[in-house]
Amino acid sequence: MLERLNSIEQEALAALQSANSKDALENWHTMYLGKKSPLMTILGDLGKLSHEERPAIGKRGNEVKKALEAAYADRVEAIRKAELQHSLTAGALDVTLPGRPQSRGRLHPHTQILREIYAIWAEMGFQVYRSRDVETDEYNFELLNIPQHHPARDMWDTFYTTTPGVILRTHTSPGQIHAMREYCPQPIRVILPGMCYRYEQISASKGIQFLQMEGLAVGKNIRLSDLLGTMSEFNRRIFGPDRKTRFRASYFPFTEPSVEVDVSCANCGGTGCGVCKHTGWLEIAGAGMVHPTVLKNGGYDPAVYSGFAFGMGPERIAMLRWGISDIRYFWGNDLRFLEQF
Ligand SMILES: [Zn+2]
Repeated sequence: MLERLNSIEQEALAALQSANSKDALENWHTMYLGKKSPLMTILGDLGKLSHEERPAIGKRGNEVKKALEAAYADRVEAIRKAELQHSLTAGALDVTLPGRPQSRGRLHPHTQILREIYAIWAEMGFQVYRSRDVETDEYNFELLNIPQHHPARDMWDTFYTTTPGVILRTHTSPGQIHAMREYCPQPIRVILPGMCYRYEQISASKGIQFLQMEGLAVGKNIRLSDLLGTMSEFNRRIFGPDRKTRFRASYFPFTEPSVEVDVSCANCGGTGCGVCKHTGWLEIAGAGMVHPTVLKNGGYDPAVYSGFAFGMGPERIAMLRWGISDIRYFWGNDLRFLEQF
């Protein structure tokens, strides 16, 4: 019986060394120290032994039990340490790595230039007047002195809707009529920014929608020289104090007389370069004195009141300002472009 206990001890200790996981240890414990294990069976059956055998077997059996329990506890601790070490190595975090950068949003260059333009006009007493994008033929054309079959309608490819007489505005000018009818007979100083829609096939670099910003001043004794002074001041503020402004005769149905507004080229200082097509001047707006018919349609008596209006493309101003070569970049949603502003 003593040999049996010795062999149990040897076998158990050897088996313990090859138990490398918590599960394996639990199995080992059941097999060698569990209630039905050979060792516990021997200890449980001590009463069946003779008086001579009992003390020696009992003593040896308890020694083996204690030895196995101690070896088991050591092994549990060793495996716990090994597993801890393994998880530390396998799931290692390099805390010296730089953090993931937060991508920060920013204002679209459109919004930036618009806010700058708003601020300049605000300082000159102009407030922003919002007008709808979907317009009637009447407001977009008729009331602006562009009747049916007027050749000016051929200048634009208009988007018509399925509702007769309802279109997408081709310019921000219908807002002039809305503003005049709202404020008449008070004096008006407003700017009207917004999207306009028309298909431009003349130039491949243009699309179907673009931003426009219109301005309108109506009151008594407003003259062409006021328009020139106002545009000159705007050009100095947006492009720099050295910029000069000039008018060129032009034609628009809703202004009389009509002019194109040019600013001296910042790139060459007016001597001529590729940017200004060697003219020394860059066109930035169309303008003129509000046509008497348009004033009348807005509710103002053209014999008493006069006014000027202008229209410019904020995108063009942004392009000149920042040296952007293609207007389509504004709508390309390319972060490489947008992140530069
Ligand atoms: Zn130039």
